[in-house]
Amino acid sequence: MACTRCRLAEGRTQVVFGSGNPDADLMFVGEAPGFHEDKQGVPFVGQAGKLLEKLLAGIGLRREDVYIANVLKCRPPGNRDPQPDEIEACESHLFHQIELIRPHVVATLGNFATKLLSGRPVGITRVHGQEQEVELGGNRVVLYPLYHPAAALYTPKMLEVLASDFRRLPELLGRELLREPEPEPEPLLAAAEPAVQLGLF
Ligand code: URA
Repeated sequence: MACTRCRLAEGRTQVVFGSGNPDADLMFVGEAPGFHEDKQGVPFVGQAGKLLEKLLAGIGLRREDVYIANVLKCRPPGNRDPQPDEIEACESHLFHQIELIRPHVVATLGNFATKLLSGRPVGITRVHGQEQEVELGGNRVVLYPLYHPAAALYTPKMLEVLASDFRRLPELLGRELLREPEPEPEPLLAAAEPAVQLGLF
Protein backbone atom coordinates (compact mmCIF):
# COMPACT_ATOMS: atom_id res chain seq x y z
CA MET A 1 0.00 0.00 0.00
CA ALA A 2 1.64 3.25 -1.09
CA CYS A 3 -0.87 5.70 0.28
CA THR A 4 -0.16 9.40 -0.28
CA ARG A 5 -3.39 10.83 1.14
CA CYS A 6 -1.61 12.94 3.74
CA ARG A 7 1.73 14.56 4.61
CA LEU A 8 2.84 11.58 6.72
CA ALA A 9 3.74 9.80 3.45
CA GLU A 10 6.80 12.08 3.21
CA GLY A 11 8.51 11.08 6.46
CA ARG A 12 7.55 7.45 6.91
CA THR A 13 9.77 4.44 6.19
CA GLN A 14 6.73 2.35 5.30
CA VAL A 15 3.00 2.02 5.80
CA VAL A 16 2.11 -0.01 8.90
CA PHE A 17 -1.25 -1.40 7.89
CA GLY A 18 -1.97 -3.98 10.59
CA SER A 19 -1.07 -7.52 11.62
CA GLY A 20 -2.51 -10.66 13.12
CA ASN A 21 -5.34 -13.04 12.42
CA PRO A 22 -7.66 -11.67 9.70
CA ASP A 23 -10.42 -13.88 11.18
CA ALA A 24 -9.95 -12.60 14.71
CA ASP A 25 -12.88 -12.05 17.09
CA LEU A 26 -10.83 -9.46 18.93
CA MET A 27 -9.29 -6.42 17.26
CA PHE A 28 -7.14 -3.74 18.89
CA VAL A 29 -6.87 -0.23 17.53
CA GLY A 30 -4.01 1.94 18.74
CA GLU A 31 -2.93 5.43 17.78
CA ALA A 32 -0.12 5.42 15.22
CA PRO A 33 3.14 3.62 14.47
CA GLY A 34 6.16 4.70 16.49
CA PHE A 35 9.88 4.39 15.70
CA HIS A 36 10.10 0.59 15.77
CA GLU A 37 6.79 0.03 14.04
CA ASP A 38 7.83 2.36 11.22
CA LYS A 39 11.11 0.42 10.79
CA GLN A 40 9.57 -3.07 10.98
CA GLY A 41 6.21 -2.42 9.31
CA VAL A 42 4.33 -4.12 12.17
CA PRO A 43 2.17 -2.39 14.82
CA PHE A 44 2.99 -2.60 18.54
CA VAL A 45 6.47 -4.11 18.37
CA GLY A 46 8.10 -1.66 20.83
CA GLN A 47 7.74 -1.44 24.62
CA ALA A 48 3.98 -0.81 24.45
CA GLY A 49 3.67 -3.89 22.25
CA LYS A 50 5.55 -6.01 24.78
CA LEU A 51 3.07 -4.92 27.45
CA LEU A 52 0.14 -5.64 25.14
CA GLU A 53 1.51 -9.17 24.56
CA LYS A 54 1.88 -9.69 28.30
CA LEU A 55 -1.70 -8.59 28.93
CA LEU A 56 -2.88 -10.89 26.13
CA ALA A 57 -0.98 -13.82 27.63
CA GLY A 58 -2.83 -13.14 30.90
CA ILE A 59 -6.11 -13.99 29.16
CA GLY A 60 -4.66 -16.93 27.26
CA LEU A 61 -4.16 -15.22 23.90
CA ARG A 62 -1.15 -14.53 21.66
CA ARG A 63 -0.83 -11.67 19.26
CA GLU A 64 -1.36 -14.16 16.40
CA ASP A 65 -4.87 -14.77 17.75
CA VAL A 66 -6.00 -11.16 17.48
CA TYR A 67 -5.78 -8.40 14.90
CA ILE A 68 -3.86 -5.22 15.69
CA ALA A 69 -4.13 -1.94 13.80
CA ASN A 70 -3.83 1.79 14.40
CA VAL A 71 -5.88 4.90 13.63
CA LEU A 72 -2.97 6.21 11.53
CA LYS A 73 -1.03 3.86 9.30
CA CYS A 74 2.06 6.07 9.08
CA ARG A 75 4.37 7.37 11.81
CA PRO A 76 3.91 11.03 12.73
CA PRO A 77 7.30 12.77 12.93
CA GLY A 78 8.77 12.53 16.44
CA ASN A 79 5.67 10.54 17.50
CA ARG A 80 3.62 13.71 17.79
CA ASP A 81 -0.17 13.48 18.13
CA PRO A 82 -2.19 12.64 15.03
CA GLN A 83 -3.68 15.76 13.46
CA PRO A 84 -7.41 15.94 12.62
CA ASP A 85 -6.78 16.11 8.86
CA GLU A 86 -4.47 13.07 9.03
CA ILE A 87 -7.13 11.09 10.89
CA GLU A 88 -9.73 12.13 8.35
CA ALA A 89 -7.48 11.11 5.44
CA CYS A 90 -6.69 7.74 7.00
CA GLU A 91 -9.91 6.64 8.68
CA SER A 92 -11.41 4.82 5.70
CA HIS A 93 -8.46 2.38 5.80
CA LEU A 94 -9.42 1.47 9.37
CA PHE A 95 -13.13 1.19 8.59
CA HIS A 96 -12.30 -1.15 5.68
CA GLN A 97 -10.16 -3.28 7.99
CA ILE A 98 -13.02 -3.60 10.47
CA GLU A 99 -15.39 -4.44 7.61
CA LEU A 100 -13.10 -7.25 6.39
CA ILE A 101 -12.13 -8.71 9.76
CA ARG A 102 -15.62 -8.49 11.25
CA PRO A 103 -14.42 -8.73 14.87
CA HIS A 104 -16.82 -9.29 17.74
CA VAL A 105 -14.97 -6.90 20.05
CA VAL A 106 -12.99 -3.81 19.04
CA ALA A 107 -10.77 -2.67 21.89
CA THR A 108 -9.61 0.91 21.40
CA LEU A 109 -6.29 1.78 23.01
CA GLY A 110 -6.19 5.38 24.21
CA ASN A 111 -7.95 8.60 23.29
CA PHE A 112 -7.54 8.82 19.54
CA ALA A 113 -8.97 5.40 18.67
CA THR A 114 -11.69 5.72 21.29
CA LYS A 115 -12.90 9.12 20.11
CA LEU A 116 -12.79 8.15 16.43
CA LEU A 117 -14.65 4.85 16.79
CA SER A 118 -17.17 5.95 19.41
CA GLY A 119 -17.87 9.12 17.44
CA ARG A 120 -17.91 10.99 20.74
CA PRO A 121 -15.36 13.49 22.08
CA VAL A 122 -15.31 11.91 25.56
CA GLY A 123 -11.81 11.09 26.87
CA ILE A 124 -10.47 7.67 27.83
CA THR A 125 -10.29 8.47 31.55
CA ARG A 126 -14.07 8.70 31.64
CA VAL A 127 -14.96 5.79 29.37
CA HIS A 128 -12.28 3.13 29.86
CA GLY A 129 -13.75 -0.27 30.74
CA GLN A 130 -17.26 0.70 29.59
CA GLU A 131 -18.34 -1.45 26.68
CA GLN A 132 -20.83 -0.21 24.17
CA GLU A 133 -22.56 -1.91 21.25
CA VAL A 134 -22.09 0.05 18.06
CA GLU A 135 -22.21 -0.46 14.32
CA LEU A 136 -18.75 -0.34 12.73
CA GLY A 137 -17.76 -1.29 9.20
CA GLY A 138 -21.32 -2.47 8.57
CA ASN A 139 -21.39 -4.87 11.54
CA ARG A 140 -22.49 -4.71 15.14
CA VAL A 141 -19.51 -4.90 17.49
CA VAL A 142 -18.74 -4.42 21.15
CA LEU A 143 -16.57 -1.32 21.41
CA TYR A 144 -14.37 -1.51 24.48
CA PRO A 145 -12.15 1.47 25.37
CA LEU A 146 -8.90 0.75 27.21
CA TYR A 147 -6.01 2.88 28.41
CA HIS A 148 -3.13 2.97 25.94
CA PRO A 149 -0.37 0.55 27.04
CA ALA A 150 2.29 3.21 26.33
CA ALA A 151 0.65 5.48 28.92
CA ALA A 152 0.31 2.61 31.40
CA LEU A 153 3.99 1.68 31.06
CA TYR A 154 5.07 4.53 33.32
CA THR A 155 2.01 4.95 35.53
CA PRO A 156 1.49 1.98 37.88
CA LYS A 157 -2.06 3.03 38.82
CA MET A 158 -3.06 3.19 35.17
CA LEU A 159 -1.46 -0.20 34.54
CA GLU A 160 -3.56 -1.71 37.32
CA VAL A 161 -6.73 -0.31 35.76
CA LEU A 162 -5.69 -1.44 32.27
CA ALA A 163 -4.97 -4.96 33.54
CA SER A 164 -8.29 -5.12 35.35
CA ASP A 165 -10.24 -3.82 32.29
CA PHE A 166 -8.33 -6.34 30.16
CA ARG A 167 -9.52 -9.24 32.29
CA ARG A 168 -13.11 -8.57 31.17
CA LEU A 169 -12.27 -9.27 27.52
CA PRO A 170 -13.07 -13.02 27.64
CA GLU A 171 -16.55 -12.24 28.98
CA LEU A 172 -17.13 -9.63 26.24
CA LEU A 173 -15.90 -12.02 23.56
CA GLY A 174 -18.52 -14.52 24.66
CA ARG A 175 -21.33 -12.00 24.90
CA GLU A 176 -24.30 -12.23 22.57
CA LEU A 177 -24.89 -9.12 20.52
CA LEU A 178 -28.28 -7.54 20.69
CA ARG A 179 -29.83 -7.62 17.26
CA GLU A 180 -32.02 -4.94 15.84
CA PRO A 181 -35.54 -6.38 15.98
CA GLU A 182 -36.64 -7.79 12.63
CA PRO A 183 -39.21 -5.51 10.98
CA GLU A 184 -42.76 -6.77 11.55
CA PRO A 185 -44.15 -8.57 8.49
CA GLU A 186 -46.88 -6.66 6.69
CA PRO A 187 -50.19 -7.58 8.33
CA LEU A 188 -51.78 -8.83 5.09
CA LEU A 189 -55.05 -9.82 6.68
CA ALA A 190 -55.43 -6.60 8.61
CA ALA A 191 -54.74 -4.63 5.43
CA ALA A 192 -57.42 -6.60 3.61
CA GLU A 193 -60.00 -6.14 6.33
CA PRO A 194 -61.43 -2.77 5.35
CA ALA A 195 -61.98 -4.09 1.83
CA VAL A 196 -63.62 -7.21 3.26
CA GLN A 197 -65.76 -5.07 5.49
CA LEU A 198 -66.82 -3.04 2.51
CA GLY A 199 -68.01 -6.27 0.92
CA LEU A 200 -65.56 -5.97 -1.97
CA PHE A 201 -64.31 -9.59 -1.55
N1 URA B 1 1.58 2.88 19.87
C1 URA B 1 0.53 2.79 19.04
O1 URA B 1 -0.49 3.41 19.26
N2 URA B 1 0.63 2.00 18.00
C2 URA B 1 1.69 1.30 17.73
O2 URA B 1 1.68 0.59 16.73
C3 URA B 1 2.79 1.38 18.61
C4 URA B 1 2.71 2.18 19.67
